[in-house]
Amino acid sequence: MRLSKAFIPTLKEVPSDANIPSHQLMLRGGYMRQLTAGVYSYLPLGVRALTKAMNVVREEMNAVGGQELLLPALNPESLWIQSGRRNVPNFILSIKERDLVLAPTHEEVIGYIASMHIQSYKDLPQTWYQIHTTFRNEPRPRSGVLRGRQFIMKDAYSLDRSWEDLDKSYDAQAEAYKKIFNRCGIKFFIVGASSGAMGGTGSQEFMIESEFGEDTTALCASCGYAANLEVATSLMPKAARVEKNEPLKEIHTPNVKTIDQLVEFLNIDQSRFAKSLVYRHNGKPLLILMLGNDQLNESKLTAALGGGNASPMDAEELLSLTGADGGSIGPVQLTGFRIIADKRLEGLNGLISGANKNDYHIANIDLARDVNVDGYYDLRSIEAGEPCPKCSKPLKISNAIELGHIFKLGTKYSDTLNITYLDESGKSNPVIMGSYGIGMERIVACYIEQNHDKDGIIWNKVLAPYAIHLIAVNMSSKEVAAASEKMYGQLGEMGVEVLYDDRANITPGFKFKDADLLGMPIQVIVGDKGLKNGQLEIKRRKTGERILVKLEDALTEIKKILSE
Ligand code: ATP
Ligand code: MG
Repeated sequence: MRLSKAFIPTLKEVPSDANIPSHQLMLRGGYMRQLTAGVYSYLPLGVRALTKAMNVVREEMNAVGGQELLLPALNPESLWIQSGRRNVPNFILSIKERDLVLAPTHEEVIGYIASMHIQSYKDLPQTWYQIHTTFRNEPRPRSGVLRGRQFIMKDAYSLDRSWEDLDKSYDAQAEAYKKIFNRCGIKFFIVGASSGAMGGTGSQEFMIESEFGEDTTALCASCGYAANLEVATSLMPKAARVEKNEPLKEIHTPNVKTIDQLVEFLNIDQSRFAKSLVYRHNGKPLLILMLGNDQLNESKLTAALGGGNASPMDAEELLSLTGADGGSIGPVQLTGFRIIADKRLEGLNGLISGANKNDYHIANIDLARDVNVDGYYDLRSIEAGEPCPKCSKPLKISNAIELGHIFKLGTKYSDTLNITYLDESGKSNPVIMGSYGIGMERIVACYIEQNHDKDGIIWNKVLAPYAIHLIAVNMSSKEVAAASEKMYGQLGEMGVEVLYDDRANITPGFKFKDADLLGMPIQVIVGDKGLKNGQLEIKRRKTGERILVKLEDALTEIKKILSE
């Protein structure tokens, strides 16, 4: 491609709304442009990089027996009502006048097809996948294409007869994912994850470590335990019971609202307090008890509640329901609320909590005796330094970006969408499903996060839009123009993808800057100085290493570098 004719609108300035490197560089390099929040147009270089990623993904999906489909982005709303996912928070964008939704993923459509055509055990196993545009009702699109409202996803689905077979399909996908990210040159790690809106019995995420990541992971350097904070546990000890169970006692705590203020006011350790958090779950009042300063993890909460919509109750509503403000709410004699508690509180007594009366707390609470707790769940977010659940060594917490997610769905969709098969004895069984996603933009953007410098992107040959950036340093020199044109023709004949800077009236400095910004792995530089000695220059973008090569040896040398 000749740069003189190419549409690659590079920018000199860093766009002010872009604050992470991949976003900045994809804009500056003319890879893409934003249309509206979370929605991007991919320009020619962006399409080429995405296509390279898709090719790797497609090859590895095919290698594990995946069969490619192309499923509609427009889905009938009724299908999502049937599966029970129509109202998952922040999930579905819809087209109201036609009762259509824009599919955020495709378990429903896969289920629809499978329910019609999978009849007997002879039709199984199947693995189907697509690489296609997906829509999500993201409340906060950010970080460029890393979190868009529209993105390209590879989503694969396995259909099996048994849980054992699901394990095989799942493991095959996990292996394919490792190959994909290794081939793309992305440094990743795998964590145990929450199944979230997908449901099911188990899942893992493929992550890159990044200060810009919206996921938080707990990692153990000692034994390799790795989990998303949404499911991570630790060996934090429970607080102990107090020996003597005293009767309930109201205590006056003027202007004392937070656990820290209580600790100071009463001079009692924070592990003697049951903190109350007031929520609504699917509209109904819910009180959540946490031990002391333990932080509630919203994903764990959603999992404990079996899905649905849970959000904090607003202060006015709380006051009108209980007659007290947030800092004075507690579980004793609280009517109209479902009460759940974190596991660390199970079996405890001698606790202090709000009295549902401003400026008062209640002491000596024995949860079993005084409170109608409707279940103890793991609800707390673990913190850095807590003991690893496997080996007790301190856990490290790091931010991460999710590249891909694999799920054992089990029968969740088979049950709601009626996906069954007949076994050898003619008995009907639910199909056991798995689902496996990768964001194509995340491959490209995460790669850039890990491979850039102050000058621009540093592509490897797998994802690079072009293998070679050929620079005619000065087109007004006849010799340079002739040698460059010849090189461009020869590389083209060899089938090498070349971006050729043949622009006239552009300074060499500008051309070099653009080449570094766009980031192709090899730069071939044809200039007056070198030509005088019958030479051109080859620069490796990654190391900056330059070598001078005789014109007649250039093709051999380039071939050698390309085949490394
Ligand atoms: P996240 O936790 O980042 O919101 P998710 O759990 O919603 O991701 P999945 O439903 O598992 O994601 O989707 C599969 C893959 O699609 C993700 O691993 C990610 O690579 C990609 N993806 C998900 N949401 C987005 C988005 N808003 N923009 C770009 N890619 C996305
Ligand atoms: Mg999401």
